[in-house]
Amino acid sequence: MCVVRISPTSARAAERLLTVDEALERILARVHPLPPREMPLLDALGRTLAVDVVADRDVPPFRNSAMDGYAVRGEDVASAPVRLRVVGAVAAGGVPERAVARGEAMRIMTGAPMPDGADTVVRVEDTDNADDVVTVTVATPTGLSVRQAGEDLARGTTVLRAGSLLRPAEIGLLASLGIPRPSVVGRPRVAVLSTGDEVVEVTESPGPGKIRDANRYSVASAILASSCEPQLRSIVRDTPEALRAALHDAMSADAIVTSGGVSVGDHDWVKPVVSELGTLDVWAIAIRPGRPLAFAQLRGDGRVVPLFGLPGNPVSALLTFELFVRPALLRMSGRTKLQRPRARATLLDPLDKPGFLRFFARAIYDPTAGTVGLTGPQGSGILRSMSLANCLVDAPAGPSRIAAGESVEVILTDLPEDH
Ligand code: AMP
Ligand code: MG
Repeated sequence: MCVVRISPTSARAAERLLTVDEALERILARVHPLPPREMPLLDALGRTLAVDVVADRDVPPFRNSAMDGYAVRGEDVASAPVRLRVVGAVAAGGVPERAVARGEAMRIMTGAPMPDGADTVVRVEDTDNADDVVTVTVATPTGLSVRQAGEDLARGTTVLRAGSLLRPAEIGLLASLGIPRPSVVGRPRVAVLSTGDEVVEVTESPGPGKIRDANRYSVASAILASSCEPQLRSIVRDTPEALRAALHDAMSADAIVTSGGVSVGDHDWVKPVVSELGTLDVWAIAIRPGRPLAFAQLRGDGRVVPLFGLPGNPVSALLTFELFVRPALLRMSGRTKLQRPRARATLLDPLDKPGFLRFFARAIYDPTAGTVGLTGPQGSGILRSMSLANCLVDAPAGPSRIAAGESVEVILTDLPEDH
């Protein structure tokens, strides 16, 4: 979104380069979780719990059978065969009509409450399944096939912490606890803009000097994949009026992501236009791809809307989204785990990179072999390098070549954040 008049090779420029960690730290210090709201259970899937959830009762609420069979006293079935008098039956949803005494058994179905006196269930397969006097054919240890009250969730315990991601299992836990409208952090609505006079709609056939807009769709998809709500806005022409109008419009969202226009050679008016609406930082980050990154805080109507200005090259845009925007959106979504899992792997191909930059190579990690191979040409305009990849090699600043056979760190970008 702004002019960065520095030459990457000059010593002065090198001093001003930010590391990835510094840039991320600055961004994360400036974004905050959206306010919580209550919503129906199914709508809460994929969102973040806003409050701790404490079990107000035991789940399951009563001792019950884990099998279809006979409720007995464990001492009676310590050895087999043994014959027991059948004193009744209890089904799921029913209540036992009497207790079980020595030498007795009660037919019981999975999920039915255990009768008093019984502490063990003998599976129907381990009996002759008789009605009046049942023969237990297999010795059964005391306590087998009985689910204790509270063994899933014990009353008074914190079952889920604020910041937990709600997956199907968590939705089930909330249902078990009788919470039809959990309090969750809102899902950020993120306006997505592309900038550039050369960029045309996906439906258009590009004329001379024009290219189709890849970034609005790839970035919007990355926003969706971050469990946020993308709002496709327009392609913004390279004029102050167009940008001013587009940003005014986009400020109704919770965050704005633009692509293009942050590299050397763009127009001087970007900075003044953004500065009319708030504060703007343009950072040269010591990475490839994706060196320039703009971060702004736009102010209006008592709100602060973060704006991320990504580079225009399609790989740079998605990579900087992954490194900087996704963690910020996750934080806005209330998540506390912002870092993808990592692994070490043996590099299959030599990797050449600028020595002074941290390089993120698109690659294919094979967890079985413990290897990682590059996805071919790594130019920042070659989106296929990313499409073929299942990870990024995180090559540190320092060396300008990493030889095949060396051990490298990979970021597992197909897996959810785990720390
Ligand atoms: P910029 O960051 O605006 O200087 O753009 C850098 C490169 O990315 C140029 O080759 C642009 O044509 C290209 N580019 C910019 N925006 C897009 C877009 N939305 N889709 C595909 N390529 C783009
Ligand atoms: Mg441009």
